Amino acid sequence: MHEMAIANSLLDAIEKEALRFPQGRITKVGLRIGELAGVDRDALSFCWEAVVRGTEWEPLVLEIDYRPRRHRCERCSREFIVESYDVACPVCGEVNTIFAGGDELELAYLEVEDHEPCGAGAQGTERE
Ligand SMILES: [Zn+2]
Repeated sequence: MHEMAIANSLLDAIEKEALRFPQGRITKVGLRIGELAGVDRDALSFCWEAVVRGTEWEPLVLEIDYRPRRHRCERCSREFIVESYDVACPVCGEVNTIFAGGDELELAYLEVEDHEPCGAGAQGTERE
């Protein structure tokens, strides 16, 4: 399954990233997925739970930042979301617009819970 491979490689990436935070614990992962990446979000969430289950990472929350297909207008420089395959600029009507995003498949962010006592003022929740 395609999504299972993605979940596995995502976990590999997180294990490498975790080496940078020896004092912390990664509690949340943000994955950016474009509309054109061909990834089924529900299937990926399901696979992610399966991959994490029973590991030291459980429960590691996966948040998906879904990005729609976007184009940029060469005439007025406006960037807009393409809906229903209509790539004409909604502002000036220009039909020759260029692809500007929507095929992302990348690690967007990690949320790390800091176990060091001097973490006052840092965002994120502390739990005992
Ligand atoms: Zn335009």
